Amino acid sequence: MRPPIIVIFVCPQCGAGYQTTQRPQTQGASGRFKCEFCQTDVYAWSSPYTYLDWQTVETFT
Ligand SMILES: [Zn+2]
Repeated sequence: MRPPIIVIFVCPQCGAGYQTTQRPQTQGASGRFKCEFCQTDVYAWSSPYTYLDWQTVETFT
């Protein structure tokens, strides 16, 4: 089993940084994550990957 892949996304509206875990999925589920601060869609996804365990991280922009 491969280790999980950590991915960083940055909110396009307010610049908040988020860390998430990318995992393969076999079902066709899709989802999206909204910024906790401004409710903008940070990322939307569908198979073959899903994204779990969203956490805020420091960014240096
Ligand atoms: Zn935001």
